[in-house]
Formats: sequence, C-alpha cells, structure tokens
Amino acid sequence: MPAETHLFRCLKDNFGVLIHDSATGATASIDAPEAAPVEAALRATGWRLTDILVTHHHADHTGGIAELKSRHRCRVTAPRSEAARIPVVDATVAEGDMVKVGGLTARVVETPGHTSGHIAYVFEQDKLAFVGDTLFSIGCGRVIEGTPEMMWASLMKLRALPDDTRIYCGHEYTEANIRFALTIEPDNPDLRARADEARRQVAAGQPTIPTTIGEEKRANVFLRADVPAVAAAVGLAGRPAAQIFAEVRERKNRS
Ligand SMILES: [Zn+2]
Repeated sequence: MPAETHLFRCLKDNFGVLIHDSATGATASIDAPEAAPVEAALRATGWRLTDILVTHHHADHTGGIAELKSRHRCRVTAPRSEAARIPVVDATVAEGDMVKVGGLTARVVETPGHTSGHIAYVFEQDKLAFVGDTLFSIGCGRVIEGTPEMMWASLMKLRALPDDTRIYCGHEYTEANIRFALTIEPDNPDLRARADEARRQVAAGQPTIPTTIGEEKRANVFLRADVPAVAAAVGLAGRPAAQIFAEVRERKNRS
C-alpha cells in the first residue's frame, strides 16, 4: 500500500507534513514545529500519531515535540549527534539506518551543513524524501554549523536520488529563492517555467511543494554549482564545484 501524505503550514513559513501507512494505521509527523497545527492535521485526516521523525534540532522544527509526545505517547526518532539538543528522544539514528513507520521504511541520509547533525529521511519504496532545511525548492538551507564543502556534499547525496523522488522541505521559501536564482541563471528555461508555476501556485493559495529531484536538478542553482554556466555567471569558471557553491550561497546570504 503506498504511503499517504498530508501537508500543512505552521509557524510563520514552516511546512508540517504527516506520512501515513494505511495498512497499519501508523502515522509520522516529520518534525514538529508546533503542536496545534499537527493536532489539527491529525483531526483533519483521522490519523493517529505514532512517530515523530526529527531532521535537526532547530526550535522551529522541534517546538511541538514534548506536547505531542505527552499526549500521543509517540516514538521520537532523532539524529544521533544532535539528540542532546532535542527534547524527549526515544531512538537515535545515523547514516544508513532504517526507520520503520508501520510498514513503511525510511533510510537515514546524513546531510550536515545547516546543522552539524542534520539528517534526511528517504522512503525509497514510496519515492519520498523529507529533507528538512538542507534542500528547499530552488534553494538550500543556510550553512550555519558546517562548511560550504560539507553542505555541497550533502546536497550531492540528495541530488543522487532518483529524479522522480518527491521532496518535502521545511519552509515555503520558493518565491524568494526563485527571485535570487534568476539573478544567476536568468535564461534557464526550467527556472523560468518554475517561476511561472510557483506564481500560479501562490496566487491560488497552494503550497509550492512537493517538488522532485529531477525538477530541482534542472532549476535549483544550489544543485548546479558544477554546471559551467553557473560557474561562469559567478566569475569562477573552472573552479571546484564546492567553491562555486560557496560563492552562490554567500550571494544569497547578502541578497
Ligand atoms: Zn533549521
């Protein structure tokens, strides 16, 4: 039975998302920015919360954990190297570990850079990836606890997933990301098409995610630091991809 998902907004610009296994009734919340919107999503779907899968320790991803845990007795799974900074953790995981949500299975992919122990959960059979604040639609997270080299390596691990993998990220930043990306790749036809699509989605009050790895490869400048046109656009033709990525990220920080 394929996994079902339910996406919703919370806090200022965070996404919350539930993943549900209808065969067993198990339901995981990917992160828990705040409790009330997760509860509302559970009521809307009729699903019972069994798990919280945490991507990283930031408060806007963990603020609802303690309250949800005390009410639902759900199991909290978190990255091992950040567990001390996350409330009420039951299980810790690292690269290559498998996490069960009922009959569904996620593979843990370590994606350090935004935070030092950030992880993504990849449900390979369902072609779903929950990437937290590492990869955004047409963007990527700020490099806060790691180095640009580390972040680029993390993004490359995600870029290596099959093109039809659906990507759920932690924030609705797509329009701002597109405005920035167009300053680097104004003539990228896939980026221009994505800009039109995102404008329509936002005007209709719809979220701009999930996106897919295939779409992001074509239009997300942060996954394209090894494309010669991107290197040339930032004046670093022929330099290592990680250096070009660092320059693009730095320009976004200043934008
Ligand atoms: Zn974060």
